Amino acid sequence: MAEIQETSVTSARQKHIVRPSQEMASLGKDDMPVLTKAEGIYVYAEDGRRLIDGPAGMWCTQIGYGRKEAVDAIAHQASTISFASPWYMSTSPSARLAEKIASLTPGDLNRIFFTTGGSTAVDSALRFTEFYNNVLGRPAKKRIISRIDGYHGSTGLAASVTGRKGSWANFDIETDRVSFLSSPNPRHAGSRTEAEFLDDLVKEFEDRIEALGADTVAAFIAEPLLANAGVIIPPKGYHARFKAVCEKHDILYISDEVVTAFGRCGEWFASEKVFDVTPDIITFAKGVTSGYVPLGGFAISDAVIARISGENANGSWFNNGFTYSNQPVSCAAAIANIDLMEREGIVDHARATAGYFRKALESLLDLPGAGAVHSAGLVGCVQCLLDPSQPDGTEEDRAFAARVDEICFDLGLIVRPIAERCVISPPLVITRAQIDDVVGILRKAITQAGEEAGLNAPA
Ligand code: PMP
Repeated sequence: MAEIQETSVTSARQKHIVRPSQEMASLGKDDMPVLTKAEGIYVYAEDGRRLIDGPAGMWCTQIGYGRKEAVDAIAHQASTISFASPWYMSTSPSARLAEKIASLTPGDLNRIFFTTGGSTAVDSALRFTEFYNNVLGRPAKKRIISRIDGYHGSTGLAASVTGRKGSWANFDIETDRVSFLSSPNPRHAGSRTEAEFLDDLVKEFEDRIEALGADTVAAFIAEPLLANAGVIIPPKGYHARFKAVCEKHDILYISDEVVTAFGRCGEWFASEKVFDVTPDIITFAKGVTSGYVPLGGFAISDAVIARISGENANGSWFNNGFTYSNQPVSCAAAIANIDLMEREGIVDHARATAGYFRKALESLLDLPGAGAVHSAGLVGCVQCLLDPSQPDGTEEDRAFAARVDEICFDLGLIVRPIAERCVISPPLVITRAQIDDVVGILRKAITQAGEEAGLNAPA
């Protein structure tokens, strides 16, 4: 108690927390803003300040905050039956949710395994590929091919396939089992056309499979767009070309849709309709509950399941699961979330608003320092580049972008800072007028940060 009286309320509360991505030198000294309430696309800080939630929490609050339908479903399920062992009991929400998700996934991805979030969805999907190849009698087919710049989570296997070097320092990843391809960042094409760049990426994939031996490669894992690297959108046709290579070598194609599913790109799932690929497995989390409660999972195609079930099961058990697999309160929240999205046409709204969102971001490109815009659906970024001809940001660009984010915060907008990219992925219920507010604040912030950095005003 004494401590609480001696320090500010905020820092006293944060004293005992070890948070994600904790800088150890500042452990116990973090001074993060404390949020106390939220409504629609807005969150409110302890001091009463209202902020636009630019990143939708962490790419997840699709329906916005304070939606009674979600809150009531959670309360109802918690007071009816709050828990049942997924090992030997069933509850109606998990079965109904699986049926609903199967109806929204592309192709024949009709079997759903529920986890506790995105990392456990990726981990379980990767463990599934391990299990699958063992049941098929191919114990050597275990390697996973991933990409530099991809992000897939913080549990063991999910972290091992994450291709962001910053995530590796002081951790041990499964280097024997995982092989990384180049980032499909079109800004790395250099003097090549986008088509030539794509050809080279495909060739790198084919060469890698040949070098490793196709009989040792189990899966390829890819986010449709690389959100956590700051919204990198691969060249057009990338995913379909990679899927064709996978098919040739009997390699499972896993699409990590933890960010892109549930409307973010204007479709329930982005793989098929936005990126032209029907994967074997899709992982999801975040938007499935709009972040009200934790839930994740993965969908598997009937064709894959058929090879290792029924008369092909070989006496096997998929002994992988969590106490909170099929969690009834989480599943009830997801059903309410999806119902609400359907009733209010929120995915259609995201699709219809995507062009406006992109144009609004592009309107900033007249500002010195606003180097490029990348977007798909309602996820986008402004790349802050003091020299726009450079593909990636320098230290100075990252400092410039951090300053933009800081000014935005002071002006009432939260921006997701990722290197030199200022990322905006708002709740999907955002209106055009609210997009104007977001971009108005970004304009002021880029202008001010530019002036501070000594950039000239536009001619
Ligand atoms: N995959 C992707 C593409 C993600 O963006 C994330 C989270 N940012 C994860 C996996 C991990 O999800 P979680 O944080 O829910 O474990």
